[in-house]
Amino acid sequence: MHHIDIDLIEMTLDVMKYVIGRVSATEHQIGKPKKAEELKAAVGETVTAKGVGGEYAFDLWKKHLATTNVPVDHPRNLAFVPASPTKAAIMFDLITSASSIHGAYWMEGAGGIFCENEAMRWIVSLTGLPEGAFGVFTSGGTAANLSAIVTAREHWRENPEYKREKGLIITSIGAHSSIKAMAKVADVDIIMVDSEEHLTGDALKETIDTLTEHQRKCLFAVVATGGTTNAGIIDDLESIAQVCEEEKLWFHVDAAYGGGALVADSVRHLFNGIDKADSITIDPHKWMFSPYDCGAVIYKNMALAKNAHSQQGSYLEIFKDEGAHGFNPTDYQIQLTRRVRGLPLWFSLATHGTDRYKEAVERGLELAQIAAKLIENHPDLELVREPSLSCVLYRRKGWKPEDYTHWTYENHEKGFALVTPTKWKNGDTYETCSRFCFINPDTTERDIEMILKSMV
Ligand SMILES: *Cc1c(COP(=O)(O)O)cnc(C)c1O
Repeated sequence: MHHIDIDLIEMTLDVMKYVIGRVSATEHQIGKPKKAEELKAAVGETVTAKGVGGEYAFDLWKKHLATTNVPVDHPRNLAFVPASPTKAAIMFDLITSASSIHGAYWMEGAGGIFCENEAMRWIVSLTGLPEGAFGVFTSGGTAANLSAIVTAREHWRENPEYKREKGLIITSIGAHSSIKAMAKVADVDIIMVDSEEHLTGDALKETIDTLTEHQRKCLFAVVATGGTTNAGIIDDLESIAQVCEEEKLWFHVDAAYGGGALVADSVRHLFNGIDKADSITIDPHKWMFSPYDCGAVIYKNMALAKNAHSQQGSYLEIFKDEGAHGFNPTDYQIQLTRRVRGLPLWFSLATHGTDRYKEAVERGLELAQIAAKLIENHPDLELVREPSLSCVLYRRKGWKPEDYTHWTYENHEKGFALVTPTKWKNGDTYETCSRFCFINPDTTERDIEMILKSMV
């Protein structure tokens, strides 16, 4: 008989009880942040030489800390890009933790990586990329974008002529902030086409035509967006793909937020041309109902990613042995040790089937249309633009920027909703407006009505 650790069993039961409460609750509070000093005063010293004990620490968590987080899956959390992990995925996130799998190499993580790859095959099938295309799960869109651009840059630098050049990429101001951040990390220059409306091949070509000879030489990639984070706008991927082909440029599509909508028949045509991408970013932790954190980077040509990212080290050679043959996720993105973070997604897909994913994404799209109608029929409200994907930008007539901020804080303070303002570029000026982004299929029309009604 193994020794049975009663404390461990009790702690496990406590944790499971908490988890069951969390996933089965129908109403959650939108948590409110507190200052670090306030939290410190409430919980006191917790990291001590002898420890304070699991039960005590867990109580502190429940009493003072859990409530200062905003659950991203709250049905009235429509700020930024919310999330809504399925209960099946959350449960398997616990299994992922409990299984202690090193997800870098097949040799150690075969079963986990196999499941990840089954989920990945489905994601890749949504893109329409040709045979041979595949991907890996990353910590998120930022890491996926960085991995893709480093791959592109390394490929470009295979030409000795460019070995010592600093590369240049073109994107638009609608691109996510992580594209600029990533350009900094990879030390490449970036030119942003100055329109938040969808980028076209023509606009791209015009921008290329303004480049100096040296800039043109250094230009190696274009980043288009498949659903801008601010407004859900999908660039004209087909015409951009054509320009990239003519100009011999790497074509990256950042669909971190919008990629989930590839499954939705009603909007799939908006992504036409994505099948010509060299690389694509999709965040399952946004619109594929995975828990944090789970991004994905997909490549048309996996060998190029491997050239760029495969790490060498004498202690790593064993993993590359014939005996350890299999798919090694570390070879295709910037991270070595990694959680098999695609595993919860796999379990959720296997549990529910892909049709349920289609329905859940369509519901998010439908909620945006419902919100638009409610706004149009409201005397004090106006759409700033028609909804794109599940993003709705709208104004409260007569409100100044500080009114939106005030309203946001008030709703958050009341534990009622989290809806944050944004800015929309109109000609040369930026207008502050309100923004919804729908992910959670359990958000109701009533939730939207209540939020709009609070804009008095
Ligand atoms: C959210 C987002 C990102 C960043 O993804 P993280 O998972 O937060 O790192 C990048 N691009 C777009 C278009 C996004 O919406």
